[in-house]
Amino acid sequence: MIYQDKAIMIRQTNYSESSRIITILTENGASVPLMARGFNKPNSPFASLRQGFQNSLFTYSRHRGMGTLTEVDVIHPYRHMNTDFDLYTGASYVLEAISRVVEEEFPDKTLYDLCKVAFDRLEDGSEMYAVLSFVLIKLFPKYGAALNFDRCIQCGTYDFQKLNRYSFKFHGLLCTDCQTEDNINRSVLIENRIVYLIAFLKHVRINDLNSIDINTETAKKMFKVVEMLFQEYTGEYFKARKMLDI
Ligand SMILES: [Zn+2]
Repeated sequence: MIYQDKAIMIRQTNYSESSRIITILTENGASVPLMARGFNKPNSPFASLRQGFQNSLFTYSRHRGMGTLTEVDVIHPYRHMNTDFDLYTGASYVLEAISRVVEEEFPDKTLYDLCKVAFDRLEDGSEMYAVLSFVLIKLFPKYGAALNFDRCIQCGTYDFQKLNRYSFKFHGLLCTDCQTEDNINRSVLIENRIVYLIAFLKHVRINDLNSIDINTETAKKMFKVVEMLFQEYTGEYFKARKMLDI
């Protein structure tokens, strides 16, 4: 059967001198392994896949198991993102974080949406560390973790003016009223505008994130907080992290 899917290539590995096996994450959230014959040849019809991260239309035949790639048409080449070293590194981080939770048996459309929206925002010049924070925030539940950033874990207040501390003891935010000497064991101070931003990004729908307009300094602070929590609760570390300039 012949298929045609909008997708992002998330993995590739050499199969022979001339061919590669690639994995694409389709618009429906399915991951599909494909044999790309002649991928490594100079005049390969799949040469566009060697130009960095892209959103493309993949045509392939598949019965069961691995399919065979027949054609690739680039929909979005992400030229800016692919030619700027920092953005390219950011995109690598995004793809690594997302592809690690892609499962062949369980298609998840939100993973494709998240990847596409992150690439779109990196391409259009949104602050990179805000985009990376957004991706991690949305991935918490995919890694089986929770990000309790909505209200005080003790008294339940939603008043962001008062929410400026995260407790690893209670796994949530503590408001200024609840920060007793006993409660603040194993906790860190977080500026409340950062708390507010994280909560906002947690609740905004993935496809509604049209731009993130915050300054680099704030975005970097937010990323450090989000990453600290992500590592604490998932234990994951991404290889692309060491290339980030932060
Ligand atoms: Zn409280």
